[in-house]
Amino acid sequence: MSTLLTVVLPSEGEVKRADQEVLTRCRELADETGHTPAAAIIAPDASDHVEAVERYGAEEVYPVEDSILSEGHLAPLLDATTTVIDEVDPRVAAFSFSETVGELLGALAVRTDAAALPEVTSFELGDDGGVDAVRPVMAAKAMARTRSTTDRTLVSVRAAAYEAEEHPVDAAVTPVSFSFDEGDLRRTIRETVTAAAGRVDLSEARVVVAAGRGVSDEEGKALIEELADVLDAGIGASRPMVEEGRFPATAQIGQTGKVVAPDLYIAVGLSGAIQHVAGMKDSRVIVAINKDADAPIFDVCTYGLVGDLYEVLPPLIEELRAVTAEATPA
Ligand code: FAD
Repeated sequence: MSTLLTVVLPSEGEVKRADQEVLTRCRELADETGHTPAAAIIAPDASDHVEAVERYGAEEVYPVEDSILSEGHLAPLLDATTTVIDEVDPRVAAFSFSETVGELLGALAVRTDAAALPEVTSFELGDDGGVDAVRPVMAAKAMARTRSTTDRTLVSVRAAAYEAEEHPVDAAVTPVSFSFDEGDLRRTIRETVTAAAGRVDLSEARVVVAAGRGVSDEEGKALIEELADVLDAGIGASRPMVEEGRFPATAQIGQTGKVVAPDLYIAVGLSGAIQHVAGMKDSRVIVAINKDADAPIFDVCTYGLVGDLYEVLPPLIEELRAVTAEATPA
C-alpha cells in the first residue's frame, strides 16, 4: 500500500481549517483502503506544526523547514514540494485550494510526473490506481466528474468540502532537508498586505455577512460592519459592491471571487445572481434579507426576511448584542 499525503502550507502561523479538512479526508480514505495517511508541512517553522497535523490522523509527518518559505515566493515552494513528493512517493498529494496552490499545481504536476485535479469538492481512490473526483464547473451550474489514471495524482480541495474531524495519533516524524539559493529568486516581495486586517479572515470564517447593492451608502456599510462585529463574522460582498469600491476585491464572493461555505451566511441586499450563488451555495445555513420578495436569493436561503435592510438590521444587531452579552460570562 502507498501513502496519501496531505501537503500543509500553514498560513499566518497556523494550520488552517481547510488543511484540517483535507487531512481528515485523507485519513478517512486511508482507513478505508489500508493506505498510510501522511502529511508534509512546508513552512519556516514547520516542526512547530507537527502536533497540529498529528491531531488529524497523519501517521507520518514530513516537515520541510527553511526561512525562505515564509516570503511568499513560488519557486522555493515548488522546489520544497517537489523534494518532499519525490522522497515520500505518495499515490495522492492533496492540498487545500488557495491562490498559491492554484499557481503551484500545474508546475508541480510536471515536475513530479503526476496528474493534477484542481479545486475538487470530493475525491475517491479509483480502481485503476488513479483518483475519481468531482468539481463544479460553469459557475457551479454543473458538476464534472474527472478521473486520473496515473500512478500519482495531485488534488486541490475546495474549502468546506469535508468536515474536519480530530483523530489524534503519535506520528513518525521525518524532517526533509531542503535548500534554495536566494540568488535564484526572480522576484522580490516588497510588501505583504493582510486584506482582512483586524477582521475575521473570510475563507476561515464560520459566519459570513455579505453585502449586496442594497447596501447603498456608508450608513449601510456601517450596519454590515456592526453585524459582522457582533457575530465575529467575516465580511463578503457582491461583485458590484467591489466594483463600486465600497468593499475590497478580496471580499468578493462568487464565480470570479472567493468560494466560501461557512456555518452561517447572511446575505444582505443581495439579489442572488447565479454568479454570486456559485460562491456561497454550500453554506450550511443561509439567511437572506431583501426588500423584494421575488429576489432569487430566497430560492437558495434557509431563512428569508423580506424587508428594508435599513429597518431590519438595527433591531437585529441590538438583539444579537443583548443575546451575546447574556451568553458571555461576566
Ligand atoms: P443586485 O442584483 O442589483 O441586487 C441588489 C438587491 O438588493 C436586490 O435584490 C434588491 O431587491 C435588494 N435591495 C435593494 N435595496 C434594499 C434594501 N434597502 N433592503 C433590502 N434589500 C434591498 N457577482 C458576484 O457577486 N460575484 C461574482 O463572482 C460574480 N462574477 C461574475 C462573473 C461574470 C462573468 C458575470 C457576467 C457576472 C458576475 N457577477 C458576479 C455579477 C452578477 O451577475 C450580479 O450582477 C451581481 O451578483 C449582483 O449583485 P447584487 O446582488 O449586489 O446586486
